[in-house]
Order: sequence, then structure tokens, then C-alpha cells
Amino acid sequence: MTAAGSFEAEDAAVEGMSRERLAAFLGALEAGACIWDENLRLVAWNDAFRISHTVPGHLLKPGTRLAEILDAGPRVLEDRRNGEETEAGALRGLAARGKLDLDRIYADGRTVAVTYDRFGRSHWLALYHDVTKQRNDIKLLRISEQELRSQHAQLDAALNSTPYGFALWDDAQRLVVCNELYRKMYHLPADQVRAGTPLREICRLSIGAGNFSGLAVEELYERYLNRIRGNLDPDQPQHYDVEVAGRTIRSTYTRSPGIGWVATHQDITDDLGKMRTLESRERDLAVQNLRFVAAVNNMSQGLCMFDAEQRLVICNEQYARIYGLPPELVRPGTLLKDILAYRLAHGVHPIEGVDAYFQRRFDLAHGGREGTDISELSDGRVIAILHHPMADGGWVATHQDITEQRLKEVQIHRAARHDALTDLPNRLMFSETMEAAEQRLRRRERLALLAIDLDHFKIVNDTLGHGIGDRVLREAAARLRSCCREGDDVFRLGGDEFAILTGPLEAERDAAVIAHRIVNRMAEPLEIDGHGIIIGASVGIAVAPGDGPTGEDLLKNADLALYRAKNEGRGAYHFFERGMDADLQERRTIEIGLRRALAQNEFRLVYQPLFNLEEHRISCLEALLRWYHPERGTIPPSEFVPIAEDSGLIVALGEWVLHEACRAAVAWPQDVAVAVNLSTVQFRNRGLLQQIRAALSESGLPPQRLEIEVTESLLLGDADATLSTLHQLRALGVRISMDDFGTGYSALSYLRSFPFDKIKIDKSFVHDISAKDGSRAIVTAVIGLGRSLGMSTTAEGVETEAQLELVRRQGCTEVQGFLFSPPLPASSIARLFERPGGVEEWIETLQKRA
Ligand code: C2E
Ligand code: MG
Ligand code: MG
Repeated sequence: MTAAGSFEAEDAAVEGMSRERLAAFLGALEAGACIWDENLRLVAWNDAFRISHTVPGHLLKPGTRLAEILDAGPRVLEDRRNGEETEAGALRGLAARGKLDLDRIYADGRTVAVTYDRFGRSHWLALYHDVTKQRNDIKLLRISEQELRSQHAQLDAALNSTPYGFALWDDAQRLVVCNELYRKMYHLPADQVRAGTPLREICRLSIGAGNFSGLAVEELYERYLNRIRGNLDPDQPQHYDVEVAGRTIRSTYTRSPGIGWVATHQDITDDLGKMRTLESRERDLAVQNLRFVAAVNNMSQGLCMFDAEQRLVICNEQYARIYGLPPELVRPGTLLKDILAYRLAHGVHPIEGVDAYFQRRFDLAHGGREGTDISELSDGRVIAILHHPMADGGWVATHQDITEQRLKEVQIHRAARHDALTDLPNRLMFSETMEAAEQRLRRRERLALLAIDLDHFKIVNDTLGHGIGDRVLREAAARLRSCCREGDDVFRLGGDEFAILTGPLEAERDAAVIAHRIVNRMAEPLEIDGHGIIIGASVGIAVAPGDGPTGEDLLKNADLALYRAKNEGRGAYHFFERGMDADLQERRTIEIGLRRALAQNEFRLVYQPLFNLEEHRISCLEALLRWYHPERGTIPPSEFVPIAEDSGLIVALGEWVLHEACRAAVAWPQDVAVAVNLSTVQFRNRGLLQQIRAALSESGLPPQRLEIEVTESLLLGDADATLSTLHQLRALGVRISMDDFGTGYSALSYLRSFPFDKIKIDKSFVHDISAKDGSRAIVTAVIGLGRSLGMSTTAEGVETEAQLELVRRQGCTEVQGFLFSPPLPASSIARLFERPGGVEEWIETLQKRA
């Protein structure tokens, strides 16, 4: 895993993903990654992209056009997209195409594979993998193919374009191969002079053709044998001039170890008497012979030539070695059928089967076109065969063992589709699998897609470090696998997001069974390096065919269901339901509205007094945020604060609240404080302390008159960083209250972690105080605890005289609630302080006024 990705988009919510989720998603990707909007403007990117892409800093901001980045980045030499068009050109058709894969080759030699893939409905996820090494490997493969081709060409040239008659003989005096000119010179019939024809037979044909008048077949044969036997040195070609039907033919014999004899024949009738030319011709002939022999034997590949009847004409040692063929099977004339039978018997046969292989060779020979073919052998080796058909129906082929290259390719293919940390298939593989699954969907097969998110992973990762975070992910992956049945596939989509695509299901219920198993299994504590860790997981389920006709719909709907499961308290699963879409749409509308609202001044603060029971006076006013929406009217914070938190907008909004509240409070009596609610998300922002200092200094409000209200969830997270911020705030002189106390869990332990100034007892306890003994006991305990820890206590939501009476009797310091006053607009605050002191008088005056 990489370090958490930086995420700097202003337009943070993409396709319903919160800023955090998007950041975690991008950050967890090992590859460079960007999100582009529908107009191909930059929305978000991760560290890996920033580092590998050396995009000028001023362009690395939301809204930058992709074209600008392409223009400004390091010089791109070539966008290799099947050689067709440029990246910019291909991108124009992106929406129609839905996906795009291409290679960018940079001037510095790097090759980066870029994939553009849909991300939600309107965005694009671009992944940038440095594939320099892989592409170089593939280049190697191409080079070896080129080599094969060039050796073929050499052989071809040696055979057919030589100006001499040419014949190759094996050690048993049979013709291996000859060219047309040879047959013409000796007037030999083509159909009777072929690979395998014995020398004696050639002599017979030659005499029959009238070449050597007066000579018997046996005599001619003996003459040849003598020439051959007298010539043992491969480097010393022998020359003989012979009268053939009135012409003078000069023959040159060269011994070729491992093959036999090469003989070249030249008509020198016209050259006789011109000795100089003759000599140089002799030299040419010798060179020609040697070149041919070298071409065959120095090849690193196996080479073979078969004739139209599928008989071996010639092969080299490497060919025999690749297939383990004994000498008797590499003799000219051996039938391909027999070679294959031998290979079958010895376990070096093509896995596709001998018949299919045989047929393919035959078809290729008759197809008349050159082609490469990959043959996988039963012993696991992979052989590349370059096949070159010859005009007469035979063929020449070179064979190369490419097992290692192939293995490398397979590894590269696998590595690109698996997550290195958990070894689970990754997002790319997921997309491919989902594409393949669409066929199952078309058959209306019932299957489910489970979207899974770990619940507290970010906290674990931030507090215990990435090393432990990685191990948690690995363990989570193992647990997920153990929850699956055969036929279910588990994927890691990135960060702490996983997905399971099930095999065929009998009923929807089956998906619930898996989800239930996952939720339970993931909730089990795990121990790493002595840390007891509980992560838990939430699961969203979409079931096909009902929940989506396409893979994309399924994923979107499973995500919506997951979102609901998380919002309903995590550690749960939820099926997709119609209408979830609408909920999300509503959230989006609010989010878009929020952005506008801040700019257009639609927020106001109202203030609710906290009444001090010991001093009989208003000691503090809590600032509460209101949104006056131009169409919807007042929207309460419970409806928009969570969305502002998710989208990160709370940071800017919270800053506005701080400034506004401090500005208002300076006008109040000097012993009255202002309380401001801070969201946990604001604490994660490093600028918080600075924001508070600025609000104080700008307004001139003494720090002692500012109270910060935080909730228990704050201490769930990165406790060390949070505590340090709290201590720094405290050092400034700001007071800190624990809000809504009792609604979280293990609340008491949080009280010990930081010396809060005030505990605000949640209104739910106060509400039940007269009805339930439990609540009363809790309120009593909290007040007592507060007193012993030196913290004051405030009862929230006091609505009745009875509640007031009870909390007062318990020794509560402050009360807040509708009994005294609802939250009031800033303009009404001044009048509050005109009232007489004392609780009863206070209530009385208020009631009289009402
Ligand atoms: P809170 O901090 O616990 O605020 C007290 C809430 O209780 C306020 O709701 C207030 O109107 C309500 N309340 C006061 N007296 C009574 C009563 O007698 N009975 C009942 N039933 N309710 C009473 P409000 O204004 O809707 O705020 C809800 C929550 O929104 C706040 O709870 C706080 O957590 C959050 N919030 C409000 N303003 C801000 C803000 O500026 N920033 C942040 N981060 N959160 C805010
Ligand atoms: Mg509060
Ligand atoms: Mg509260």
C-alpha cells in the first residue's frame, strides 16, 4: 500500500463518494490515478500520479483540462493506441467507447499504460501504470520473432535466388533439397527429383536425359561417390568440370558436417578461356555453399522443411533437440505423421492433440500465408513456430522455445490483475469479470454482488501505522475468502473496499447468508503485535437480475446499499432497495446547495443560553447553525452537517461559524462565554488551531470566553493527534466541553483521557429522567463524576420544571433547554441580559413575555 493519497479536490463529492472515501480509494491505489469529470477536467488525483507525472504545480488543481496536462507534461513521443490515433483524438470518442486503453511513451523512455474507465455515472477513473519493463519484455519477444524471420529469409535466399544449380545430399546419398536451376541444368524431371531421392536414381535419370552419353548408371554413380569420399575437409571445397550434353558444368562440393554435402553447379561454357572470371566464380560458389550451411546450422532455432507430402526434407540439430527426436527420425523423407507419433509416445506432443496439430500444419501449408503459431507441449514447454509455406505445397518452419518469455507474460498479466498486498484480484480484474458476467445477466441467472467496506480501517491505519494496517487488510482478505462458497469471487477494489461476485444463487436469501457470515466473521477481534483490533465490516448487496441489468448498475446499487448499511450504524448488511437512488440524489442536491449557500450568505447563527444554577445568571450562549434556504426554508443542522462533514465542506463552514460566533460574543457582558460546536472532521484538518487563533484575534474575544464543544466520536479516532490539539487549545485558554455525553459508548473512559472543563449530559437522559430510574441513575453518576474530576456539568434539553428540579437537586452546574429559552437570533441577545437573575424569576419573566 502507498501512503494515503493526497486529495485536493474542491469538488469533493464524486458520484456520491465522500471526500474521505474518494481520498482513501485513490490513496490505496498503487498506480497513479486521477478522477476526471465528464468534461475531462481534473477532479482528484493521488500522490502516485503527482510523483510520476511531473505535472507543473500550477496545473495540479481541480478543474484543469486533461488536454492542458497532456500538453504541459514531459514530452510524449507517441500515444500507441494500436497505432491508430493520438490520445487526444481517442479521448474525443471516450464517452461513446466507455473505456480506453493506451500506451504513452515518454521522451525519457518510460512507457505508461493509461486506462480510462467509467467512474460512476459521469466521471472517469484514469489509471497510470509504468509498464516500461513489461513493454521491453514484449519488445524482446518481437525481436526474437524478427530474428526468426530474418533467418528464414537467409535460407530462402540461399535456396532460391542463387544463380547456381544447388543440391544438398545427406550422408546416405539421398537428396535433401535442390533448387530449380539444378534440375534444369541436368534436365531432370521435377516430379521425380525430390527430397529423399537416392543419388543412384538421379544418376539413372541424368543418363536417361542424355547428359553423359556412353556412361553407365553405375559408372556415373561411382564417380560421384569418389568425389564425395575424396573430400573430407569442410573448408576445402572441391571443383570438377564435366561435359553435360555439350555444355561445361563446373561442380563444387562442400562437406557440411551434420547434414551431408552441398553441391553447387555452374554452367561455365561461355566463360571458358576467360580464366580470371572463372577463378572469381569459383570463389563465389564456395562462399555461396558455406553461407547456406552456416545459415542452417548456426541458427539458434530449430529449423525444418517438409514437402507437400508432409515428408521431412531437412532439419537442423536444434529441431531434433527441441522435440527429442532420434537420428532415424530426422532423416529426409521421414513423415511428419511418424515424427508426431514418436513425440506422442514420448510425451512431447502438442496439448491440442496430434490430429489437430497435424491438420493445422497442413492448412497453414495450403493457406499460402506466412504465420506464427504457438504450440503448447504436454511437458509444459511453449514453442513459437514461424511457418513459411512454399509454392509446391511444402513449408519451412522455425521453432523456438519461448517457455520463459511466456511465463513472464503470464506473470505480468497476473500481476496487473492482482493486488500485491492481499493477492486478491484487483479492480481491473473486477471490471473484466463484471464484463464477462454480463452474459450471465443476460441469461437472467440469479447472482449477487456484495460491496464490502471495513468499518474502522482508517482509524487503525492512522493510529497503529501502515504496517499493521496492511496486515489487517491481509487478514480481512483471508476472512472474506473463508466466508465464500466455491464459485464466489472476492476482489479488492482498493483501500479497504472489497467486493464479492457470487456464483449462481437459488434464492436472494443465500446472499444474505453470505453477508451475515461476513459481518460476524469480520467483527471478531484480531490480534496483531499485541494489539487487540476490532475492525468490522458493512456490506451492501445488489441481486441480479432484479437490481440491475448491467454489471455497472449492479455495482452502483450494491454501493448504494453499502452506503445505507454504513449510515445505519455499520457492522451490518443491507440489500439494495428502490429509492436509495433518490436518497442519494437528495444528498447530492443538498451538497451542491451547501457550496452555494456559503458563498451567498445563507447561513446564520442562533444562540441558546446556558443558565448557571449556582450564580443564577446566563453564563454562556451556545452558537447553533441554521441554513435559511431560499426555497426550502430553514434547514436544521441535523440534515446538512453530516453532509458537510462527508464532503469536507465543514472545514470552511466551521471556520465561518468560529469567526461569526466570536464577533457576536464580544458585544455580550464580559462574564458570558460563547460555545461553538466543532466537528470531528475539523480536528482532522491541520489548520484548526490557526483558525481558532485567527477568530479570537480578529474579534478581540479573550480566549477564556470561548468554549469548544466536541463529541465522544472525536476520541475514537487518531487519539494522539487529537489530544495534542486539545491540549494546545487548552494552553491558549480556551475551555473544552464534552457534548452529548452518554450517547457514545465506553463514555467514561473518554473522560479520563482528557481533563474536560465541562460535561454536557445528553438531552435524551434529561428527557427520561423522571420516567426511568436508569436515566436518573446515570445523570446522578455523571454529575458526581464531574464533580470529583473537577468538571462542571450541564443538563441539555431541560423542558419542564420537574426536570429542572431533579437536575438541580443532583448538583448540576448549568442547564440549557426550551424551559429557559430556545435558540435566539443574534439581534435578540442583548435583551436577555436585561432580565433579573435567579432561576424562578427568569422563567417567570420569560413566561410573562411569551
Ligand atoms: P447540540 O450541540 O447538542 O445542540 C443542542 C441541540 O439541542 C440544538 O439542536 C438545540 O436546538 C436543541 N435543544 C436545545 N434545547 C432543547 C430542548 O429543551 N429540547 C430539545 N428536544 N432540544 C433542545 P440543533 O440546533 O438542531 O442542533 C443539533 C446539533 O447540530 C447540535 O447538537 C450540534 O451537534 C450540531 N450543530 C449545531 N450547530 C453546529 C455547528 O455550528 N457546528 C457543528 N459542527 N455542529 C453544529
Ligand atoms: Mg453542542
Ligand atoms: Mg448536545
